[in-house]
Amino acid sequence: MKYFIAANWKMNKTIGETRDFLKSFIPMVKELRDVDIVVAPPFTALSAAAEEMKGSNVLLSSQDVFWEEKGAYTGEVAPAMLVDAGCRHVIVGHSERRQYFHEDDQVVNKKIKAVLKAGLGVIFCCGESLEEREGGKTFDVIRREVEQGLAGVDPDNLVVAYEPIWAIGTGKTATVDQAQEVHAFIRNVLSGLYGSRAGEIRILYGGSVTPENVDSLMACKDVNGALVGGASLKPESFVKIVSFKKES
Ligand code: PEP
Repeated sequence: MKYFIAANWKMNKTIGETRDFLKSFIPMVKELRDVDIVVAPPFTALSAAAEEMKGSNVLLSSQDVFWEEKGAYTGEVAPAMLVDAGCRHVIVGHSERRQYFHEDDQVVNKKIKAVLKAGLGVIFCCGESLEEREGGKTFDVIRREVEQGLAGVDPDNLVVAYEPIWAIGTGKTATVDQAQEVHAFIRNVLSGLYGSRAGEIRILYGGSVTPENVDSLMACKDVNGALVGGASLKPESFVKIVSFKKES
């Protein structure tokens, strides 16, 4: 299965900074063929990023979307507008959207369906908080988020990202064993939804991925890529991550 590594820049980088990053990053990764490389800048920089990425092996993603096609929804962006801007993927259900903007599983589900209908790929995020982990609820939370978020969703064009909230932006990475355990569980829940097609769905790990820990995380059987925040903001650092060495 081809690895999939995505940069989530969150609310960082102007249009100029986005162009500068890509002018430096793209030539450094042009030989990499065994990994899908994706970058998700803020909305304002999408079109400029699409121009820079033209003819390259780097794909554009949005960090969010609204589920309606058009109309009186001040401030929102429709899936077709993201297609128009040059996006190929959309991140949906990131824990920051769930936490700060109160997006629940039903909202996530509506967004995923709208994204797929527009012909875009989805990077669907799920993950437990520290409190939920310590309370022994990790698997219940993940099962609920996956089953409700993906209810009625076709798995073509679907990538799942496991992002333990306690590991996002904290410098605390899940251990290789913790990551593999939850990834295997997610694969199992996906099998319940999609049968043997679950084996083809890429499951990314996200949460303080760095050039130092990426090799061991990517060596886990059910880890098929990464979603990277902080360490994707500098070209040299993100190049090292997408050029990870597969441990045998
Ligand atoms: C993220 O927000 O998707 C993320 C994984 O962030 P970080 O790599 O900074 O923990």
